[in-house]
Amino acid sequence: MNGITGTTKITGIIGYPLTYTLSPLMHNRAFNIRNLDYVYVPFVVEPKNLKNAVEGLRALNIKGVNVTMPHKEAVLSLLDGLSEQSKLIGAVNTINNEDGHLIGYNTDSTGFLNSLVEEGFDPADKTAVILGTGGAAKAVAVALAQAGAREIAVIGRSAEKAQAVKTSIAVANRYILVKTLTFQENLADIFKKGELIVNATPVGMKESGDLLLVPLKYINAAHFIYDLIYTPEETALIKAAREKGARAVNGLGMLVHQAAEAFKIWTGVSAPIDEMRQALIHGLKSGEQPGNV
Ligand code: NAP
Repeated sequence: MNGITGTTKITGIIGYPLTYTLSPLMHNRAFNIRNLDYVYVPFVVEPKNLKNAVEGLRALNIKGVNVTMPHKEAVLSLLDGLSEQSKLIGAVNTINNEDGHLIGYNTDSTGFLNSLVEEGFDPADKTAVILGTGGAAKAVAVALAQAGAREIAVIGRSAEKAQAVKTSIAVANRYILVKTLTFQENLADIFKKGELIVNATPVGMKESGDLLLVPLKYINAAHFIYDLIYTPEETALIKAAREKGARAVNGLGMLVHQAAEAFKIWTGVSAPIDEMRQALIHGLKSGEQPGNV
C-alpha cells in the first residue's frame, strides 16, 4: 500500500467518547499485510448525532465501520438489514455497506467462539456459566448456544436482564437447559458443575481491585475460565484460577477474532490473525489505553 488515493476504501469505528481504541492498529496493519487499498479511522460520534452519522456513512460511501459503546443497540433501527446473529443478540458491532445498503453484523459472538476453539476448548455438550447480562454476555451466550453447549447458567445483578439473555439462548438453540440466577443466590452447585466460566462484566478491570465474582473456594483445576477483560492482562479472576491449577485466558483472543471477522466482511479476504494479534499486543505494551474494541 502506498498511501491514501482517490480509490481508497474507508472503514473505521464509531463510538463515544472513543478516547482510546486499538482497532485502527489492528485493521491498518491487516490492510497493509494483505496489500488492500483500505484505511481504518476513528469517528467520535455523540449519541445525539448517531442518526446523522449513519446517514453520513451512506452519503460518504464509507465501506464499513465497527460500532462500539454506547451505540451497539441504538444503531439497529437505523440500518437497512441485520444478520441473524445481530438480531439474536440485539446488538451490532460491525456495519457493512453493501451497494448502498447498510447491513449490521455482530462479530463479538463469532469472535468469542473462534477464540475459545483456538484455546482448545470445544463448548459442544459442555456446561457453561456466564457472569453478566449485558451485550457481551448475550454475544457469548448465543455463541455457546449455537456451538451446542449442554447447559448454560446466566448470573446477573438483575433477574430481568438474566431472563433476556435466556430468551436469546432459547431462540438460538431451544434444546439447551438454561438457568438464570442472581449473585445473591447460593451458587456453589452452579460453579461446581460449570466446566466453562465466562466473565462478561467489567469486574476485574483496574477500578474493581481484587473483587472476585467467583468466590475462590468455588474455583477448581477442572475449570476453564475465560475473562473477556484484556487489560490488565491478568485479572484477579485469572490469577486466582491459575493458582488453583485451572486454565484461564483473557479477552485478547476475542478482540482479535471479532476484528478478523469484521475484516473478512468488509474485504472478502481472510484476515492475517497473527499479525493483528501482534499489532494489538504491541499497542497494549506501548501504553495505548484500550477502549471496548
Ligand atoms: P455492558 O453491556 O455494560 O454489561 C456489563 C454487565 O456487567 C452488566 O450485566 C452489568 O450488570 C454487569 N456488571 C457491571 N458491574 C458489575 C458488578 N460490580 N458486579 C456484577 N455485575 C456487574 O458491557 P458489555 O459490553 O457487555 O461488556 C462487558 C465486559 O466485557 C467489559 O469489560 C468489556 O470491556 C468486555 N468486552 C470485551 C470484549 C473483547 O473483545 N474482549 C468484547 C466486548 C466486551 P447491570 O446490568 O446490573 O449493570
